[in-house]
Amino acid sequence: MGNFDKLKENVLKANKALVSYGLVIFTWGNASEIDREKGVVAIKPSGVSYDEMSVEDIVVTDLEGNTVEGKLKPSSDLKTHLELYKRFPKIGGVVHTHSTFATAWAQAGREVVCSGTTHADYFYGPVPVTEALTEKDTKDYERMSGAVIAETFEKENRDYEATPAVLLKGHAPFTWGKDAIRAAENAAVLEEVCKTAFITREILGHSPEIEKHIADKHYFRKHGSNAYYGQKKEK
Ligand SMILES: [Zn+2]
Repeated sequence: MGNFDKLKENVLKANKALVSYGLVIFTWGNASEIDREKGVVAIKPSGVSYDEMSVEDIVVTDLEGNTVEGKLKPSSDLKTHLELYKRFPKIGGVVHTHSTFATAWAQAGREVVCSGTTHADYFYGPVPVTEALTEKDTKDYERMSGAVIAETFEKENRDYEATPAVLLKGHAPFTWGKDAIRAAENAAVLEEVCKTAFITREILGHSPEIEKHIADKHYFRKHGSNAYYGQKKEK
């Protein structure tokens, strides 16, 4: 086994999960995972179809984006992923998709308020939307996309671990997690949350906020030191 085989396998699995969760078509979307001890990130190659993608195609880079292992070009969104790993030191995986409903909310430039327990189980408080990138930002577009996401959390003192998702304004969602597969799961949950949020808004004409005590109950029974949801080994 090569040095990075496990990391590459995890990343392949997460990228293929994006297809099975119905979150991507063509080659849209990408998943990555970091090994912070080794100082490397494994990511989907650019423009390779998910059907044909094998573990050898996964590209390993250092934290500056230089290829360490792999023959193919890394995803063009690599620099966004790297910026998120730098700015959010506790995350282990990042996912980007253009899934329909989450992208629609990103295009609308609207945050997704917590209207129900599905949302509260995974995301604490609203899923925020970023500011638009400036014209100057487009010179270093992918890195600045990561920077504007990080700023969205920093400026409002949001906890990126408690809300592992964001809508990049006019673009699409990014999610993260402790590894690539958790980031992919969060992308799937975000899509469902955005879909039901849209339908709820259609029914009412506005987005209602769930009672805070119910949202808190749902979030904290799955997260933090007093969590009791699921089986014991699940952390
Ligand atoms: Zn994109």
